[in-house]
Amino acid sequence: MAAFDVDLFVIGGGSGGVRAARIAAGHGAAVMIAEEYRMGGTCVIRGCVPKKLFVMGSHVHQEIEDAAGFGWTIPTPTFDWPTLIKNKDKEIARLEAAYTTNVEKSGAQIVKTRAVIEDPHTLRLADGKTVKARYILIAAGGAPNHGADIPGIEHVISSNEAFHLKALPKRIVIQGGGYIALEFAGIFAGFGSDVTVIYRGDNVLRGFDEDVRMHVRAEMEKQGITILTGCTVTKIDKHGNDCTSHLSNGSSLASDQVMFAIGRHPNVANLGLDKAGVAINPHNGGIAVDAWSKTSVPNIYAIGDVTHRVNLTPVAIREGHAFADTVFGKRPVQVDHATIPTAVFSQPEVGTVGLTETEARARVSHVDVYKTTFRPIKATMSGRDTRVLMKLVVDGLTDRVLGCHIVGDSAAEIIQAVAIAVKMKATKADFDATIALHPTAAEELVTMRTPTARHVREAAAE
Ligand SMILES: Cc1cc2nc3c(=O)[nH]c(=O)nc-3n(C[C@H](O)[C@H](O)[C@H](O)COP(=O)(O)OP(=O)(O)OC[C@H]3O[C@@H](n4cnc5c(N)ncnc54)[C@H](O)[C@@H]3O)c2cc1C
Repeated sequence: MAAFDVDLFVIGGGSGGVRAARIAAGHGAAVMIAEEYRMGGTCVIRGCVPKKLFVMGSHVHQEIEDAAGFGWTIPTPTFDWPTLIKNKDKEIARLEAAYTTNVEKSGAQIVKTRAVIEDPHTLRLADGKTVKARYILIAAGGAPNHGADIPGIEHVISSNEAFHLKALPKRIVIQGGGYIALEFAGIFAGFGSDVTVIYRGDNVLRGFDEDVRMHVRAEMEKQGITILTGCTVTKIDKHGNDCTSHLSNGSSLASDQVMFAIGRHPNVANLGLDKAGVAINPHNGGIAVDAWSKTSVPNIYAIGDVTHRVNLTPVAIREGHAFADTVFGKRPVQVDHATIPTAVFSQPEVGTVGLTETEARARVSHVDVYKTTFRPIKATMSGRDTRVLMKLVVDGLTDRVLGCHIVGDSAAEIIQAVAIAVKMKATKADFDATIALHPTAAEELVTMRTPTARHVREAAAE
């Protein structure tokens, strides 16, 4: 009898686990992949994909408003939340089936169950059966945090539930200042809800470029979203269908729904990590891994959100692929986590890659900033009160473009292409040498000639 039932056992059928299972099976490994909820994981089932569908749906509201300036008369539109949910569910079920089929086609075996680790080579499934594996890959993802156990916390929903609400809330309070909070603020506002965002910090989108943070906030406020910073929700009372959120600043807010999007934690609890001796990273609470995604146990690897490195789908996918190539494909690959483009699908959208101005000033001695805000061409006809922000952060000594930050329509689409140039270490001169594509918003990226700010660190200037 073989010592192992499979070469690889993957815990978690999300973005990273599925990619790793398929590629490892393609390299000839016998693979089993366990998923306790739905194949596709967070991104497909209750993350990126349904979120983007909601964003698109809610943005129709602005398109309708903007149409008048172009001569369209549109009868007062109505919106039906249950139709949105039904159609979204249909698309998510289609994707889930496609994920299942693709894994099966690769030759990997799916087990629809929770799996936990018994020892470095043994997995226990929910029905008590055990599986012996040469390698284990933990790709268990993450889950929403609810924060402190405040009174009334049981009335709070997370993004998980927001995708399945029975009705569109007329008024919603969203606590959080990160990308998920702002995306849902835009979604609900677009569909017609009265939205209040509560955030404990001084401004939303911590970690993003300061100009981006100010610009997004101002644009969202122009659309009627209330953003209260420097306070938190301390208690929630529920009377019938009404919620009252009590805030740390002494005020209170009435709403139909309260949602928290205050961060996510890696799914490390009750996985049996201690039984196998898999160490946790003390800095972020995720599974500790090296540059090969190897844990403290030589035959156990971990990828994606469960490592709490960079919690994005394409990163989990890249890590899963690299793991499979390294361990089963005789092709050692390490994932480069530098210069990862990212977007916030708020309305307006944010696209960003590379260093913020603050980060650049901390890292290099000479920083040139090229920044512009302008009224997009569409707004000249629609009359919408909105401005686009484009910003380049450049190393003043080497001329290398260190960061690019955009707020405005299609920012995410634009930044994906700009990210190639930034990753290739393009210089500002390379941007300048590129002929503009007119009329676009993105042409500003190659036509900004004069720095709007130039920072020289004192010590370096001597
Ligand atoms: C609302 C929201 C919006 C997002 N939007 C974006 C976006 O626009 N762009 C982007 O790049 N990223 C986005 N993300 C993040 C993205 O979804 C994650 O980074 C990505 O899904 C991580 O993939 P993963 O494979 O690590 O984990 P997951 O996709 O979370 O998959 C883990 C899977 O493991 C399963 N599992 C856990 N424990 C066990 C167990 N013991 N046994 C069996 N199965 C188990 C879970 O059920 C889950 O299906 C978003 C996330 C959220 C919540």
